[in-house]
Amino acid sequence: MFKSGDKPGAGRYKCLTCGEIIYLFKNSDVLPSCPECKAANWVKFKHALSQNSILHL
Ligand SMILES: [Zn+2]
Repeated sequence: MFKSGDKPGAGRYKCLTCGEIIYLFKNSDVLPSCPECKAANWVKFKHALSQNSILHL
């Protein structure tokens, strides 16, 4: 589990509270608070993020 303010690396993260999905594109990106519920706890999705899905965000 990660918290807002962490730099857990590029990838897809899911809010533990409401299920909101966010993306970090760079390893230097900082996890924000959840834009939906303002919670600070995230779990990392294990699925690989394909180039195709990045382009269609
Ligand atoms: Zn949330």
